[in-house]
Amino acid sequence: MLSGPSGVGKGTVVAALAQRASTLWVSVSVTTRLPRPGEIEGVSYHFVDDATFDAMIAAGEFLEHATYGAYRYGTPRRPVEEKLAAGTPALLEIDLQGARQVRAAMPDAFTVFLAPPTWDELVRRLTHRGTEDPLVARSRLDRARIELAAEDEFDAVVINESVEQACDELITLLRLPVSR
Ligand code: 5GP
Repeated sequence: MLSGPSGVGKGTVVAALAQRASTLWVSVSVTTRLPRPGEIEGVSYHFVDDATFDAMIAAGEFLEHATYGAYRYGTPRRPVEEKLAAGTPALLEIDLQGARQVRAAMPDAFTVFLAPPTWDELVRRLTHRGTEDPLVARSRLDRARIELAAEDEFDAVVINESVEQACDELITLLRLPVSR
């Protein structure tokens, strides 16, 4: 399970990791947020409306779910359980609230916190992403402060100095076989 503040580069690191470790399965979350340019339904997320998200909660379809800013995010339970039962390494990229829920439900899950090299670098990445308006970026930074304070809760911390180095560390930590 990989967590870390918004803007730290979780998505980029996970995409690179999946390229290098082809056996790794990456969970696709459900969200009520709208797609950003370039995001693909079923690959980046399953994009749903609020009513569908509520129905999924009621049906017990989420392993965990959380509200982040104005939107909700959740991990569909069944695909994760199927992958784990089949012995396939499964990776969830989720926020702190979700990480806490998964840790409670699956105490054996290995949890990694992806941290920015410095606070200033995180500010730069979040405010230059350009896909969020300044108010949203501001609230994501406020939340990032809270998330950074929780890094001790995780089994390991990886500092995202570069995508390659973060990937190398994750491959070692998760003992992933790599395809070269
Ligand atoms: P974004 O809108 O930038 O894609 O994601 C916002 C935050 O929600 C990020 O911290 C991301 O890791 C988190 N997130 C994405 N999917 C899930 C999920 O399924 N569950 C939880 N709890 N958080 C998620």
